[in-house]
Amino acid sequence: MTHDGSGDDSSRRDAATSEEHDGNATTRRDEGVTTSEDATTALAPEEAFAALGHEARTATLETLADADEPLAFSEVYAGVPLDDSAQFNYHLDRLRGHFVDQTDAGYTLTAAGRRVVEATLSGAITADPSFDRVEIDHDCPYCGATVTVAYRDEKLLSFCPDCGGTYDSIKGEREPPAPGYLGYQPLPPAGVDGRSPAEARAAAHVWNVSDQVAVSRGVCPRCAADIDVWVRVCDAHESESPASASDDGRPVCSACGNRHAAMHTAECPRCTYRQGGVLPVALLADDALLSFLLDHGLNPLSQTGGGHQFDTVLLGYEETVRSHEPVEVALTFELDGETLTLVVDDTPTVTAATRSDTTE
Ligand SMILES: [Zn+2]
Ligand SMILES: [Zn+2]
Ligand SMILES: [Zn+2]
Repeated sequence: MTHDGSGDDSSRRDAATSEEHDGNATTRRDEGVTTSEDATTALAPEEAFAALGHEARTATLETLADADEPLAFSEVYAGVPLDDSAQFNYHLDRLRGHFVDQTDAGYTLTAAGRRVVEATLSGAITADPSFDRVEIDHDCPYCGATVTVAYRDEKLLSFCPDCGGTYDSIKGEREPPAPGYLGYQPLPPAGVDGRSPAEARAAAHVWNVSDQVAVSRGVCPRCAADIDVWVRVCDAHESESPASASDDGRPVCSACGNRHAAMHTAECPRCTYRQGGVLPVALLADDALLSFLLDHGLNPLSQTGGGHQFDTVLLGYEETVRSHEPVEVALTFELDGETLTLVVDDTPTVTAATRSDTTE
C-alpha cells in the first residue's frame, strides 16, 4: 500500500490502517460504497476530463497504479489526501466504470486509467527539463557535419552547423527555431532523465520509429484506431535552385518549405495523435524497404549510432514526382552501391519496388 505523503492526517491514516488489518476486509472493503447500476465505460471527452478534475481522483489513480493487486476501499482511501470517507467515496464513484474497475477482489485501474497515469508519469519524472545545443556523435544526413541537439518543450531538436538543414518543416505549423534547424523528435521528459544528450537522441529514435511502424500499418500508436494517412505533393516545387532557397539559406522549396515535394500527414480520427514528414517514415513497414535496409545491416530499430545511418538513408533520398493526379512518386534510396526505387501512391502504398546494383 502506498502513502504519497500528501495531506498527512495521522488519525485518519490510523483508522485506515486498522480497517486494513482487522481481518474482515471483505465486508470493510465495500463500506460506504454505493453500487452504481449505470456505471458506464463510455465517457464523452468533457466528462472524462471532469472525472479527473480533483486532487483526490488523481491520487486515487496513482494509488491504484502503485499497487500490485486489487485494493480494498480502505487501502485506496489511505493513499488519498482526504479526511472524509463519504467525500472520498463520492470521488471514487466519479472514476468508476471508465478509469477504475471494481471487482470482488477490490479496486483496480482500467486500461484508460492506466494510460492516464502513464501520461502523467512520463511528463512528471523531472520538472520541465531542457538542455542547450550540444554536439553529439551523429552526422547530418545531408552534408555529414556533426549535428548538435537541444531539448526543450518535450522536443529533441537537431541542428546542422554547416548546411541548411530542414528535414521537417510543415509550413504554417511552426517556424524553424534557428538557422540549420533539421527538425525535432517528440520525447517525453522521462526520455532525457538520466541520459546523456546522445543517449536521449538514440532513445528518441527508437521511440519515434516504433510509432512510425504502427502508422505505416494504418494503426494509431496511441489509441490503436484506424489512422488516416495522406500524401500532399507540392505543385510548384523547387528545392535545387538557389533562388528558391529561404532567407536563412536553407535549400528548401519556397512554396512548401521542404526539401522533398511529397510529404505525408497522419492524423487519428479518434485521439489527438498527429504526425507528418517525409514519405519513407510512412512506409517503414513496407517489405521491400525493410528487407533493403536489413540486407545492408541496417535495423531501423537499432539504437546504435542513434539511427545515424538510418537518417542518411531515409532522409537523403532522391525523389521524382511522376504524376500529381493521381499521385505517383518514385523514391530512390542508396546503400553500399545498391539502390532501391519505390513507386508510391497517395495512400501511401508502395506499388512497385526495384533494386539494382549501381556498381555494375
Ligand atoms: Zn548538414
Ligand atoms: Zn488515436
Ligand atoms: Zn515545394
